[in-house]
Amino acid sequence: MKILIAASEMTPFAKTGGLADVVGSLPKELKILGHDVRVVIPCYKQVIAGEYLTDLPVPMDGHLETAIIRHAAIKSGNSEIPVYLVDNYRYFYRDRMYGYNDEFDRFNFFTKASLAMLPYIAFQPDVIHCNDWHTALIPLFLKVKFMEEPFFQKMATIFTIHNLQYQGKFPRGVLGALGLDDSYFTPEELEYYGEVNFMKAGILYGDVINTVSKKYATEIQTAELGEGLDGLLRKRALDLYGILNGLDYDEFNPSKDEKIYVKYDVNSLDKKRENKYRLQKELGLSMGDIPLVGIITRLASQKGLDLIAAVIDQIIGMGVQFVLLGTGEDYYERLFAEVKMRYPQQTSINLGFDAVLAQKIYAGSDIFLMPSRFEPCGLGQLISLRYGTIPVVRRTGGLEDTIKNYDPETGYGNGFDFVEYAPDKLLDALNRAVTLYRTNPKAWNKLVRSAMNMDFSWNRSAIKYLELYEKAINKHKMHMRAV
Ligand code: ADP
Repeated sequence: MKILIAASEMTPFAKTGGLADVVGSLPKELKILGHDVRVVIPCYKQVIAGEYLTDLPVPMDGHLETAIIRHAAIKSGNSEIPVYLVDNYRYFYRDRMYGYNDEFDRFNFFTKASLAMLPYIAFQPDVIHCNDWHTALIPLFLKVKFMEEPFFQKMATIFTIHNLQYQGKFPRGVLGALGLDDSYFTPEELEYYGEVNFMKAGILYGDVINTVSKKYATEIQTAELGEGLDGLLRKRALDLYGILNGLDYDEFNPSKDEKIYVKYDVNSLDKKRENKYRLQKELGLSMGDIPLVGIITRLASQKGLDLIAAVIDQIIGMGVQFVLLGTGEDYYERLFAEVKMRYPQQTSINLGFDAVLAQKIYAGSDIFLMPSRFEPCGLGQLISLRYGTIPVVRRTGGLEDTIKNYDPETGYGNGFDFVEYAPDKLLDALNRAVTLYRTNPKAWNKLVRSAMNMDFSWNRSAIKYLELYEKAINKHKMHMRAV
């Protein structure tokens, strides 16, 4: 199968969250399964890789804009996966990846360039896998702008929702820039409470759609977690699937990880302890067998940080050390800076994005905290399992699908969870974890070992994606025949 994956970020080139990990790892598994898979992402300022391949004109609002296509690759075993980097100085040579006033136009350009480059690079995918709102216009543009050309007619699309909260909503005026007329400004099309909604385009026009866990696929069809699009998602329920994200088990591997202090595996847990001591030392915490609670996250309301803030005194009162690595909304940065002032001895608050420190925290912590309000899949809990760090999570979305509450009677489970979004419930779950850690080291070590032995690699999920690609291709064929 010929597959093009289009996304706004990808490890190792540009990352703000789990999407990058997924886009950086799924193709490797698809390649192993024998498919011609390639990826296209924007060439942000921070992307240092990429050699000039070609350039081409992209029709924008009344003018032509040049897209420079650069060419890089990632390795999958002995083979390489081509990665196309869409470069344009004006749109992408900026300090941050996201958060500008002309977001609609940057991704309008990226979308058009990703399609327009295909004849230039002579790659005719059977399916284009689009991810989140940044690439949600691809299925629409394919249909209304490219379908006249035989080169594009057979291309099927799948649209993956990694997070329904970010939809790409813009004022009505942007329609013109997209090259769409007013007929697209209706509730049946892209209009959404008086604005243009990019994500709607993906949901409406993708041949099939999916999200990144089974549970989240059902949750987004409810008013509570549907972010206003639940009605539309219910309408497409027959074409809506849930496929759990996998983790790159080569990349995230404590026995090979160059970023951590000392490598270890399930048979050398004493070395995990050494990672903990060295982390404590580096972060200025007292060294010793104090339960170390870590959290690595975007600082956003989704992540349940207000729950932690509400009971931070009690958390510290349990006699644990608390280490946070995160970046994002000012409100939370201030909140945790204040926590640091109150508890300088027991906490380490690291505000920023730091891929090396992240791995050291996964390796050095005993407990990983993820009390999310909602969680489409979540990779943090999967990475921590792999590093033998026991997750304490809220039972929602992908966290519910991956973390089973520990039962001290039977030993069943791989973490600790709570259901109701309430600070005392979080505290209770954390307390259960800390108590087991303190009172029953044997059971704790067993839990750690079984966590490390679990398999959340891409094996199964990549096969499910292939099945979904087949479905998309068949649907597209049927649709073409009907037209
Ligand atoms: P989301 O995609 O919603 O941000 P996930 O749990 O799916 O959440 O993925 C988050 C990914 O980003 C993980 O790989 C995590 O380790 C990483 N990450 C998040 N914040 C930081 C940070 N400040 N520094 C380094 N890595 C981070």
